[in-house]
Amino acid sequence: MEHIKLLILGSGPAGYTAAIYAGRSGLTPVIYEGLQPGGQLTTTTEVENFPGFAEGIDANELMDSMRQQALRFGADIREAMAVRTDLSAAPYHIWFDDASEVTCDSLIIATGASAKYLGLADEEKYRGQGVSACATCDGFFYRKKRVAVVGGGDTACEEASYLAGLAEKVYLIVRKPYLRASQIMQERVLNNPKIEVLFEHNTLGLYGNDGVEGAHLVFRKGEADERCFDLPIDGFFLAIGHKPNSGIFLPWVKTDETGYIITEGASPRTGIPGVYYAAGDVADPHYRQAVVAAASGAKAAIEAEKYLATL
Ligand code: NDP
Repeated sequence: MEHIKLLILGSGPAGYTAAIYAGRSGLTPVIYEGLQPGGQLTTTTEVENFPGFAEGIDANELMDSMRQQALRFGADIREAMAVRTDLSAAPYHIWFDDASEVTCDSLIIATGASAKYLGLADEEKYRGQGVSACATCDGFFYRKKRVAVVGGGDTACEEASYLAGLAEKVYLIVRKPYLRASQIMQERVLNNPKIEVLFEHNTLGLYGNDGVEGAHLVFRKGEADERCFDLPIDGFFLAIGHKPNSGIFLPWVKTDETGYIITEGASPRTGIPGVYYAAGDVADPHYRQAVVAAASGAKAAIEAEKYLATL
């Protein structure tokens, strides 16, 4: 079986940055990109807040540039997705979806987070036929159509604003009587004439013969003035948060109740002698920013380098 000195799982800003740092240290890291090469950022369009790009940069271009930088320093980038781990003792053992398996001395977990769904059977039924968790990936298909976005956070407001540039009408379905998003994002949504915010609404299901044709909604669920009705729409976008991709590392890592890996303070150390590190959104319930993920990837690589030097 192949043995690797430093293995990095995940190819978002955390994974690629870890690979850049480790590569420059001469460690020749092996990085498995997982299901979504480039990570979550590749599902957005323009990145305006990554330092160094005064005019902003296309998200895919940014991620491709990080990938090229990792390659330049000798990273061995592979396509498979890790499906099982045994981290009980070094060398750590990882199995992949292409039936390959490796062991490694040090592991950096940078598997990120994935979009959450409401858990309705209809979301499965219509997935790819009107249901999406990525407006920037699928918005194009809804030009001049009617769509709904679920959620009241920054992501939902961002997706609704983006879709308003394409669709004829955007409904924002918010379960509370207020938005949780930052002030600037709220204003953007509330001042957009194409967006209608449906406060205190929940989705019960979807309907349609050939893809989504509408949503069954309920206003003030469980209250005296509860009212159910159908909203005709062509697209249904989820923007209700994310869940960390930490499942395959259980029970070896400590997580909080949502599944975010708990590290030692602001470091990427998991506290396990031996050593594996968690970087990026898989361990970050708070900031979830590309630049923060990149920074933690750098820290993880520096920690791994120090550890490997002791072997
Ligand atoms: P948040 O957790 O902030 O918001 C999730 C939203 O979805 C909330 O309005 C929540 O409602 C709602 N929700 C959750 N579960 C359900 C459900 N089952 N049914 C209906 N509604 C539901 O997630 P975001 O992805 O929006 O943001 C995560 C973090 O990333 C935040 O810190 C945010 O600021 C940041 N971010 C920053 C951006 C930027 O700066 N440009 C862009 C995008 C995200 P409720 O309020 O009732 O809990």
